[in-house]
Amino acid sequence: MTRKIIGIFGGTFDPIHQGHLACARYVLTHCQLDSIRLMPCHLPPHRATPGVSSQQRAKMVELAIASEPNMQLETLELNRQTPSYTVDSLVALKQQYPTASLAFIIGMDSLQYFTKWHNWQHILQLAHLIVCRRPGYACDEGDAPILLNQYAGNLQQLQQQPAGVILLLDNPDFMQSATFIRQQLATHPHIRTMLPPAVMQYIQQQRLYGCR
Ligand code: ATP
Repeated sequence: MTRKIIGIFGGTFDPIHQGHLACARYVLTHCQLDSIRLMPCHLPPHRATPGVSSQQRAKMVELAIASEPNMQLETLELNRQTPSYTVDSLVALKQQYPTASLAFIIGMDSLQYFTKWHNWQHILQLAHLIVCRRPGYACDEGDAPILLNQYAGNLQQLQQQPAGVILLLDNPDFMQSATFIRQQLATHPHIRTMLPPAVMQYIQQQRLYGCR
């Protein structure tokens, strides 16, 4: 039986960039998902980028996906006001969508330290993991080999099993990184092309990341 699969794409999205959107589009098409919910995490004030609030990060996600019919903003973690673990968010989403399978989307950099995530085994009981390749992060480093050895599966297995499959995608390279964008945006105008135009406009309006 093929189940309805909802993709969950968590991140700080500080800011959301073309790499995130390209990953989400690739996953939607390649894995035939019904939809992807982009879920910005809550950041405590001492970890947040000064001058950029959770609401602003969420607004940038909203602007970036405005013309993407199968992507929605998921505000679950922002409404909590405490840092939330992915596992807790997936429990809540499972209650909200009891008949669907969940697939949590991450980049290879995140897979490399996935066993440090709180209750990571429970995450794999609740959801699949869809992993996008990312330039600079190989699948034979960190936690990736051990996890792939134990949980790797193909698309058909992901579609048929309720959870617990790690699907490694063969996506093209998406070079963008939020850290790099935050560091370079104010001084290097060509970096703007790494952002969806509506997001860049908002960054200028709100004077985020030193832009004006
Ligand atoms: P930073 O550079 O500050 O680490 P980021 O660009 O990774 O930020 P996040 O919001 O932390 O942005 O990323 C959310 C998720 O998207 C993570 O799982 C990350 O691995 C993945 N991701 C982000 N950019 C890419 C990319 N260019 N290619 C593949 N995966 C990516």
